[in-house]
Amino acid sequence: LPLKPTPPPFRNHGNFVVSVAELNRWLGERAEEAGAYVLSETVGAKLLVDDDYEQSGERSAGGEASGRDRNAPGRGRSTVIGVRTGDKGRDKDGGRKSNFEPGSDVVARATVLAEGCWGHLTGAALKGLGLAAKDPQVWALGVKEVWEVEQPLDRVIHTLGWPLRPQARFKEFGGSWIYPMNRPGETPRVSIGFVVGLDYADARLSVHDVLQEFKLHPLVRKILTGGKRVAWGAKAIPEGGYWAMPRLHAPGMVICGDGGGMVNVPKLKGIHYAIRSGMLAAETLYSSLKAGSTDFSSYERAVHQSEIGKDLYESRNMKQPFGRGLIVGGAITNAMVVTKGRLPGGHWPTHRDSDQPLLLTDRDKRYPKPDGKYTFDKLSSVFTTGNATRDDAPSHIRIQQRVPRELAEAWKWMCPAAVYEVPEDAPQGSEHVDLIVNPSNCVQCGAITAKGGRLTPPEGGDGPVYQVT
Ligand SMILES: Cc1cc2nc3c(=O)[nH]c(=O)nc-3n(C[C@H](O)[C@H](O)[C@H](O)COP(=O)(O)OP(=O)(O)OC[C@H]3O[C@@H](n4cnc5c(N)ncnc54)[C@H](O)[C@@H]3O)c2cc1C
Ligand code: SF4
Repeated sequence: LPLKPTPPPFRNHGNFVVSVAELNRWLGERAEEAGAYVLSETVGAKLLVDDDYEQSGERSAGGEASGRDRNAPGRGRSTVIGVRTGDKGRDKDGGRKSNFEPGSDVVARATVLAEGCWGHLTGAALKGLGLAAKDPQVWALGVKEVWEVEQPLDRVIHTLGWPLRPQARFKEFGGSWIYPMNRPGETPRVSIGFVVGLDYADARLSVHDVLQEFKLHPLVRKILTGGKRVAWGAKAIPEGGYWAMPRLHAPGMVICGDGGGMVNVPKLKGIHYAIRSGMLAAETLYSSLKAGSTDFSSYERAVHQSEIGKDLYESRNMKQPFGRGLIVGGAITNAMVVTKGRLPGGHWPTHRDSDQPLLLTDRDKRYPKPDGKYTFDKLSSVFTTGNATRDDAPSHIRIQQRVPRELAEAWKWMCPAAVYEVPEDAPQGSEHVDLIVNPSNCVQCGAITAKGGRLTPPEGGDGPVYQVT
């Protein structure tokens, strides 16, 4: 069913379609030209806090950040003084290989955390420095492909719903995008992807396979047929919006972009907020440090007074109503779009994705059998990312391995990279199973952090090598 007129969040006239991997490489080069030293293939493993307090960045799997009011005073005056980088050259059991290199401390008067959707150090700061919002962060998972196509696409396409199910009990909220990526002199490309909120109920929902199912629609086939898939990727998106935004500063530190929950959920856009919050952080840091201060509280005010704060406040209750199903949720959200967030007002709280009780249905029977040309399985998709994770690296995924069967199934189907397997010989009637975990497949999408486990940074340089996604 075409939506006419196009709802405001889906209007994209005047926007650019770019590969975020290419944009990041370009920005990195500009930063180096301007004198920045970029430590590539290096992870921030621990947050360094002044002598009174060192927060290790490690919290127990599935642990919760301590809730606190956005306006409550800060806890103590711990000052962030930098990060410790991760060790390299450890074996599967954590022992030192012959090429072992220990991490080192990078000490600074200002530390900017811009770790994206599943920030390891950000999580430690939220918990250890009491920065978390009262409402928990929630996420969606997006899986995308880039195709070379015969005919250039001439429009931006967004869809909502199908092949997700509209009934409220399934709690399936999401949709697709199809964007043209045309450059003069090059084979035309399209970016196609599907995003689903991770508070869905069916343990057998797999966003990777929903995308394959979506590609079978005749209108999508018309765009892709005769083309060739050239790239694939997966990543989570923070969707808690305004109510789940943490405090964005502590002495010596600020949080930018997705790590601070800055994503416009109805528009599915966060790149402009990541860049804008980085610019606001730079301005605050410059003026504060010049004045001899590591109090960066004016950064948070600047974010909330900018278009970021304004947009997020307007859309503060737009995701939550979809918990009541696509039709009811869509009607409430439309009212919010039309009234710029005034109706219905109030505070619609978010609930942890992992708190959603699970159902086991035969959802998986609908997924197409991969043919390797038009529809693909997870492993061949991971292969296209050039995933560089060593097979003998220590596991960077913190999960409980013996878990209830529904949870094991949920992780197996959810993970776009086939990291989790339920053993075939696990007795059918058993309530608990021992998961098989293949961490070297992981593309660090972050979804496991939403669903009861926790992703930590792998060894620097490990992971997918995205080129055009
Ligand atoms: C499927 C999908 C589609 C999207 N579509 C759009 C769109 O069309 N338009 C739009 O504007 N936005 C879109 N977004 C949102 C957008 O991608 C994000 O809002 C944006 O990339 C956030 O930028 P960031 O710099 O905060 O985080 P990221 O882009 O995630 O960058 C964070 C980087 O930090 C690295 N990192 C994390 N932790 C550590 C650590 N401890 N040490 C070292 N490195 C670390 C990560 O590997 C990553 O490279 C989409 C997101 C998804 C998932
Ligand atoms: S194991 Fe890696 S790829 Fe799989 S869901 Fe977790 S973070 Fe994503």
